[in-house]
Amino acid sequence: MSSPALPSLSDRFAVRFGAAPALRVRAPGRVNLIGEHVDYVGGLVLPVAIDRAICAAASTNGRNVLRLVSEAAGIAPVEVPLVDLGPRTGSDGWLNYVLGVLAQYRELGWTVPGFDALFSGDLPLGAGLSSSAALETATALLLEGLTGRGLDPIERARLCQQAEHRHAGVPCGLMDQLAVGAGRAGHALLIDCRDLRVTPVPLPPDWSIIVADTRVKHTLADGEYRRRREDCEAAARALGVPTLRDVSLELLAANAFRLDERLARRARHAVTEIARVPAFVAAAAAGDATAAGTLLRASHLSLRDDFDVSCPELDALAEAAWRAGSELGVIGARMTGGGFGGATVTLVRRGREAELARHLEVDFAGRFGHIPSVFVTRPAGAAEIMPPDYPAP
Ligand code: ADP
Ligand code: MG
Repeated sequence: MSSPALPSLSDRFAVRFGAAPALRVRAPGRVNLIGEHVDYVGGLVLPVAIDRAICAAASTNGRNVLRLVSEAAGIAPVEVPLVDLGPRTGSDGWLNYVLGVLAQYRELGWTVPGFDALFSGDLPLGAGLSSSAALETATALLLEGLTGRGLDPIERARLCQQAEHRHAGVPCGLMDQLAVGAGRAGHALLIDCRDLRVTPVPLPPDWSIIVADTRVKHTLADGEYRRRREDCEAAARALGVPTLRDVSLELLAANAFRLDERLARRARHAVTEIARVPAFVAAAAAGDATAAGTLLRASHLSLRDDFDVSCPELDALAEAAWRAGSELGVIGARMTGGGFGGATVTLVRRGREAELARHLEVDFAGRFGHIPSVFVTRPAGAAEIMPPDYPAP
């Protein structure tokens, strides 16, 4: 006997707001395969939009308020007057990703109508999978759908990035918003953050992606992100270049005396990490698992030792995957996202996912006393307004 279907997003919206929504949108999360902490230095990055997403439904309400509901745990429904789209603090902090986007559209001269919105989905929050960019992009698409005006994916990504800078106070690069907005099923995205060129890169069909979320977020994360960015800017200034993208390994070696010990490590991370990205793309094109694995490991070690953004939980998950090695089909593993908690990404031979997931869970739980959230994910398509016949999320 089949179990009764759960109420769909539209049904839940109707229960809450009294009528079916005018539109639904879907904005995926992303996992970055390699190229970490280099988007804001104009580097190369290789994220994948994933099959976990924020879904949202909305209708205009004919009033001068927003009624906003998120099904994420611990978030109470709110009413926001349209005259006050300013930044929020405390438990209303999540609103910054929504109101920030609306405020940016207003700055473009768009009229923001009163609307009701329900945000839902299966993307973990704060796990380094870019739920923030997904929430921003979902909001942007809702507004575009409700007003009938649209932006192209790059303009939208920039606008969402501005929202994150100004409302949420996070000086992020553009990778997350672009990955969410430009994902392609079955592909990673090679993004050149200097000119924003996006090149879809097919992944070998027998390489499967496993995300292992530590389910920890160390509180120092926020200030440290800004400090890393400032370190990279200071290193570039000392080297006399606009950004660390303009620095080769040779130039860095010849000019190391211009940097103190910390800035030298920050610069070494950025320069070597940028070089690892095209090398990884070549390894993927050749199906060279050994080369890809070596690059993922080098990326993790560089983030741990030179950039100081890892933590014991991330190190343990990466090391558990390395130790399992080819015996469990592991191609490679590293921390992904901003660090200080969040998740690792592991590439594994297709068919070996369940075995490896179990190994990571058991190994991690033995050390930290809680089970990480480990799941297989697939490269998915870009954020979109769902067509009316889109299957109910
Ligand atoms: P990440 O982007 O890696 O998930 P961030 O710290 O950048 O981590 O963003 C997480 C924040 O985004 C959450 O703390 C919350 O404020 C907001 N957020 C993300 N998804 C949702 C959601 N579905 N509902 C409400 N807020 C959300
Ligand atoms: Mg984020």
